[in-house]
Amino acid sequence: MLSERDIRVHSGSGGLIVNLYKTDALVLRNLNRGETDQLLVLFSLEYGKLKVMAHGSRKITSRKRGAIQPLTLTRFLIHKGRYMDSVRQCEELESFPDLFLKMDRICYATYAAELVENSTVEGEANHILLAVLVETLRQLGKGDPEIVARAFALKLVTLAGYKPVLNLCVKCRRNLDGKMLTFSPLAGGFMCAECSREKSEDQTFSCHRGTLETIKLMLAWELSKLGQLKVDAETRTELYYVLKLHLEYHLGYRCATEMFIEKLKNRNSSYNPKL
Ligand SMILES: [Zn+2]
Repeated sequence: MLSERDIRVHSGSGGLIVNLYKTDALVLRNLNRGETDQLLVLFSLEYGKLKVMAHGSRKITSRKRGAIQPLTLTRFLIHKGRYMDSVRQCEELESFPDLFLKMDRICYATYAAELVENSTVEGEANHILLAVLVETLRQLGKGDPEIVARAFALKLVTLAGYKPVLNLCVKCRRNLDGKMLTFSPLAGGFMCAECSREKSEDQTFSCHRGTLETIKLMLAWELSKLGQLKVDAETRTELYYVLKLHLEYHLGYRCATEMFIEKLKNRNSSYNPKL
């Protein structure tokens, strides 16, 4: 265990210099640097997104190897460097082994980590988002990974302040009646059938009312309950497009892992999300 004693370093004159800090963080990604090092992208409890070096972590004898793998929750002791902070010690807290048993689980877990990396800024803590991400990784190993991942994306945009309007037409403010609706990322929600006929300045997407109702349930239910939510193929497709448009418009970012997952589905017509 890392103790408080670990974060105090004495200077030569006897004064106390604190140049180490401790934080619990989820490893979002790691990148090889040189022969033996890795650059880690962390989402930490106290400091939000952090980039730190793990020196020597690629050596076969390194004790850091397990704890710095992507999608691991780890307690870090980090040395504050002049140009780049570096890992002094690390201890694995939770590793989500069920994610690695099936391809779709690990794909959607990587999707969730990528969304967090690209929707947050360094140094800004977000305890709630970290807690939701950790719970998402637990549930991805148990429930329907596609639905859990879509629910995570909805919760992420809500925490970022971009929750779509779900209870009224975003144009005329009347109830969203009718079987077909239109989603507009610019307007920030769904339009009724009448308003959908008007020309829109942004890229919109026509979808069934059932997709809106599914989004409401995904936001209202806890992630652990989403396994009970039965979603048909048409609604899954519509959820994909609605979220893709919304994320790209408001976060200004196109998720590479999402594109990879879609390529996998399209390339192999026998792709089975439950493989
Ligand atoms: Zn309307």
